[in-house]
Amino acid sequence: MSFFQDLGLAQPILKALEAAGYDTPTPIQQQAIPSLLEGRDLCGIAQTGTGKTAAFALPSLHHFATKPKARQQYSCRMLVLSPTRELAAQIADSFRTYGKFLGLKVDCVFGGMPIFSQKKRLAGGVDILVATPGRLIDLIEQRAVTLKDVEIFVLDEADQMMDLGFIHALKRIDQLLPKQRQTLFFSATMPKAIAELGNRFLNNPVRVSVAPASTTAERVEQFVTFVEQREKQTLLTLKLQSEDIDRALVFTRTKHGADRVVRGLAGAGIQSAAIHGNKSQGQRTAALQAFRDGKIKILVATDIAARGIDVPGVSHVFNFELPNVPEQYVHRIGRTARAGREGIAMSFVAGDERGYMKDIERLTGVRAMTLGLPEGFRAAVAALPPPVADKKPQQARGGRGGGQPGGGRTNYAGKKLGGNNGGTGLNGETRNRTHAPQGGWQPAIGPRDGSREGGKNDARPRSDNVGSGDRRPTADRAFAARSENRRDPGAPARNYGPKKGGYKNAVKRAS
Ligand code: AMP
Repeated sequence: MSFFQDLGLAQPILKALEAAGYDTPTPIQQQAIPSLLEGRDLCGIAQTGTGKTAAFALPSLHHFATKPKARQQYSCRMLVLSPTRELAAQIADSFRTYGKFLGLKVDCVFGGMPIFSQKKRLAGGVDILVATPGRLIDLIEQRAVTLKDVEIFVLDEADQMMDLGFIHALKRIDQLLPKQRQTLFFSATMPKAIAELGNRFLNNPVRVSVAPASTTAERVEQFVTFVEQREKQTLLTLKLQSEDIDRALVFTRTKHGADRVVRGLAGAGIQSAAIHGNKSQGQRTAALQAFRDGKIKILVATDIAARGIDVPGVSHVFNFELPNVPEQYVHRIGRTARAGREGIAMSFVAGDERGYMKDIERLTGVRAMTLGLPEGFRAAVAALPPPVADKKPQQARGGRGGGQPGGGRTNYAGKKLGGNNGGTGLNGETRNRTHAPQGGWQPAIGPRDGSREGGKNDARPRSDNVGSGDRRPTADRAFAARSENRRDPGAPARNYGPKKGGYKNAVKRAS
């Protein structure tokens, strides 16, 4: 089966596919669409970039095209759950694209946007509703929507849902869905806990699996440079100046880390933008749009904010810090090398991240090529101020407005940067030079790494989906907060450290 026409999809869908320039189904589409057209449940192991959205959107649209029904008030015929706002918006856009000749009503609801207008839109009923779990529960509780008419239910990125602490929300939603329905369950990884969650929703599903980690990894040219944490900003600046970049995604582990990178680049005259859970929805949308439009070439993101983001033409992915979950690395580098194109991934690995790199190489089966430090690097680093040692935790914490004490700092080119910027890179050195402080400031709830912004609003952990309407139980929210908030390499170490004793060794070396 090599063309969409062969799959038996309704004419208006084929027309829309043609308009989008797609004629050949991707492997997941080839595997999934025939069974889905028969009404089977489906359990798919697939990550973003494989064409999985169309794999579930096309047969669902075919169902609505061939079985039209009047919309019911406060109701929907299809529910798609997505872990993040960006992914939800992207999925809704895909439905609009593929369904543009069907006259269906597609809506998308997530936290961080006014609930009032969402309630108003849902009053007349919609055909396809894409939602994040927290906001959906809110809307259900406020009787703005009912799930009793759902015919097709899609749970996308199930592993990410679990990571973000949505398990209780999902269980509640499960109870509210009609038993008679078609269910599609997708996850990039399928550990036991996720498979068990799938069993809860699925009924005799067809199982499909595409793009194992190595496939993506093999398409991307991967490089690694070993560099001290405090020197990474300099390295990034030099790389961005010397590489032929169309669009670059820079991944940091934490929100504050992302902000620091943006400030550091700005100091070197390089424009970039950050997206993460502390940015307002408007800021995130604007940054993403500017990146899509090519107005900014560099987007700095945390894993959660970037999850599911599909921007064509990303030539480079920079891992400013490595993720401690190897699968996340595959997600990151999968942002480049889309649609069979080749991409470049560069990882900056500090001494205490080497264990992560080994885990990644074990998973992908691909050995990244080691690149030395670029020309001019040593001179640029020599211009950096000396690392600051033995700070009290309150002082050393990056990103709490005050940043590095001691006023401004100098970038690699010797240019004076703003003084209130959290001291890009310097804190990482502090981490290696001092034992993790045991006392000092701790957030009221959530992570113990001190990486969250201060202020009383921050006593509540946040994740991407912890918007105004988040009603997840406290335990869930605390769990959710661990994702982006944890392990700020620019903050003093508490819980952060590689699995294989690298951190311990780093401390030993430094002391
Ligand atoms: P997804 O995995 O759903 O995020 O899709 C990744 C990208 O592939 C999106 O930009 C889609 O628009 C695109 N895409 C999906 N199906 C096809 C296809 N059959 N041919 C070409 N591109 C596709």
